[in-house]
Amino acid sequence: MSKFKNMDKIKVHKNQKSYGELQTQFNSFLDNAHVNQQKLNRFEKIEFNLMVAESIKDVLHILQNDYLKLFKLDRSRLILDDAGLSIQKLIPTEFQQKNNGKFLSLFHTPMDLDKLRFLPSRITTGLYQAAKHRWLINEEGIKSIAVLPLIRRGQTIGVFCCASKNVSRFKAHVSCDFLQRLSFIMAVCIENALNLEILKQNSFMDPLTQVHNRRFFDERLPEELNRRNRSQTAISCIFLDIDLFKSVNDNYGHGVGDDVLCQVAKRIQTVLRTHDILARYGGEEFVALLPETPNEEGLLVAQRIVAAVNKTPISIGKNVILKVSLSAGVSTLMSNECYDDIEELGSQLISTADQALYDAKEQGRNRAINAGLLVLSEKAQCLANNSSI
Ligand code: GH3
Ligand code: MG
Ligand code: MG
Repeated sequence: MSKFKNMDKIKVHKNQKSYGELQTQFNSFLDNAHVNQQKLNRFEKIEFNLMVAESIKDVLHILQNDYLKLFKLDRSRLILDDAGLSIQKLIPTEFQQKNNGKFLSLFHTPMDLDKLRFLPSRITTGLYQAAKHRWLINEEGIKSIAVLPLIRRGQTIGVFCCASKNVSRFKAHVSCDFLQRLSFIMAVCIENALNLEILKQNSFMDPLTQVHNRRFFDERLPEELNRRNRSQTAISCIFLDIDLFKSVNDNYGHGVGDDVLCQVAKRIQTVLRTHDILARYGGEEFVALLPETPNEEGLLVAQRIVAAVNKTPISIGKNVILKVSLSAGVSTLMSNECYDDIEELGSQLISTADQALYDAKEQGRNRAINAGLLVLSEKAQCLANNSSI
């Protein structure tokens, strides 16, 4: 009997102890659940932002800035496989290696590409080891790191790394479910954003001559005129039209005509500066917009283009050698005035250059005619010489 009594006592004692333990355990579960909920919210926020990002620029900003802030991390880095050198031209200048080498790198050499190919396909987290991680992140004070391979259709398209100066921020062998899902979403969003960028760039290019098309020019013209209003510098416009081009088609066929168009476009480009804007305006017509270019300089450029096209004959294949010429018209918007009707301003700049081009045709072709400074209608002019701007 006394034996049973003793046992009951022990039982009660044990139960009391386990109740307390249970309480602590329960509280710790609750805390964990709360922490996990907050973590999940942060991951969802980043994932949502990535999914609604409208451009590769937005995606890169999210990965470089928002992600670090939201997760209180010290460094992030994105490396993409650019074996075909096709991504470089899709990346906004602010993220290009020379301006932002610390965050984004594009790998294209066989040695670098091997580093990506030999990455484990699963997320890894843990202590930062310089020898192992230096090629991913190389910065003083980094103590722990998470390495997220970006995989699409079984191929590693890149890697995203985030790192912390806190040694226990990324522990080894912890569950990486959230990170795993995020890396998948990152890979999809980066790939989609790059594809969208290709589509956008293609929609602004003339597929035949590989110079910009009229849609691009129509979008850039008001932007450049607004910029000019702010900087109050001169801007010149050159309208160009190949001479007697119909006869090239009639005599040699459209294939040869197409080749001539391409070669003329290349010759025009050799004369222009990188920040000048050249577009194929229509059939055999091109337009060039020259920011920060006074009238005399604009005329000089037009004369150089005329000379570059006419100087040496154009060879098409083995048998056709053609002497080609074009005519040009120049107009300029002067520097120290400000105008508010940008649309009207743009159309006057073009139509004035076009009229000068017409005069060049009238006067015998193969020449540049200068329309000089734009005489603006009242509609376009608002605050000429306004000192308050
Ligand atoms: P002008 O010196 O007065 O400008 O004479 P032109 O023969 O150049 O002008 P016209 O407007 O009579 O003819 C333009 C020709 O350009 C007609 C058209 O078939 C040709 N053309 C327009 N676009 C293309 C193209 O993409 N490829 C080819 N091969 N020809 C084109
Ligand atoms: Mg024409
Ligand atoms: Mg023509």
